[in-house]
Amino acid sequence: MEKFTLQQFRAAYPNDDACLDKIFQLRYNNLVCPKCEGVKPFTRVKNRRSYQCPGCGFQLYPTEGTVFEKTTTPLSLWFAAIYLQTTTRNGVSAKEFERQFDICYKTALRMAHQIKKLMANKTYEPLTGIVEIDETYVGGKMKNKHKSVRKAAHDKGTSHTDNKIGVMGFVSRGGDIKMEVMNDLKTFKERLKLNVNKDAIVITDSHNSYTGLNKTYKQHEVVNHTEGEYVRDIYHTNTVEGLWSQLKRTIKGTHIQVSQKHLQKYVDEVAFRYLHRKEQDTMFETVLSHVV
Ligand SMILES: [Zn+2]
Repeated sequence: MEKFTLQQFRAAYPNDDACLDKIFQLRYNNLVCPKCEGVKPFTRVKNRRSYQCPGCGFQLYPTEGTVFEKTTTPLSLWFAAIYLQTTTRNGVSAKEFERQFDICYKTALRMAHQIKKLMANKTYEPLTGIVEIDETYVGGKMKNKHKSVRKAAHDKGTSHTDNKIGVMGFVSRGGDIKMEVMNDLKTFKERLKLNVNKDAIVITDSHNSYTGLNKTYKQHEVVNHTEGEYVRDIYHTNTVEGLWSQLKRTIKGTHIQVSQKHLQKYVDEVAFRYLHRKEQDTMFETVLSHVV
């Protein structure tokens, strides 16, 4: 797997001007001047974050309408933050940005959240094929309890989830991923309906909220965790459970309590990293392309 190395990054983006050039390129590739219809390349305006048409003097500000528009943080720091966020296994905490870049925590946290937003998966097509489905709960007190206690609560489907926030995950094998913070009162089945196409083969554990899915979906396979069954042939929920471990490591890595309000951003970040796990060399570019 090719990597976008620190050396390559530094050579490509040595300063704020190089970063601005990149944003300009991404937004206005093959630009025709909207005012005079000239095709000569725009040139950079000194001491401004803008470029102008050599024919008529019309100016464009490439950061306008992007997350970089109102920031006083140098573009080179933003780029470095995106670099770190896309090249580390579990992401970088706001605390780490604060330390590394010598900026205040509030700015660092804003940056971290904005970058997570840029990473968010923007597709909303219902999943097809073989789809693993599972739910997990993060935060709160349950994590301190023994595994058997948590498992019993899960299997009973009871509300031993004090202070915990539920997340439901859908993974199409070899395809897309959706993870959704359960911050409203929709049932599991209602969430399934929104995220998974009827022609899918769905795999779940034996939680009773999933009973009867065979009526809606092409096929429903249940992996019975209560009876110690974890893999039967191709039927298991290991992929989605792998995402839960990744989500929990990501949250732990931030060293702060993630609130319900922000959890979806962490969830999206984990999904992004998983989806692009074989594209380490272009992950940085992908996130940048979401800026424009
Ligand atoms: Zn012009």
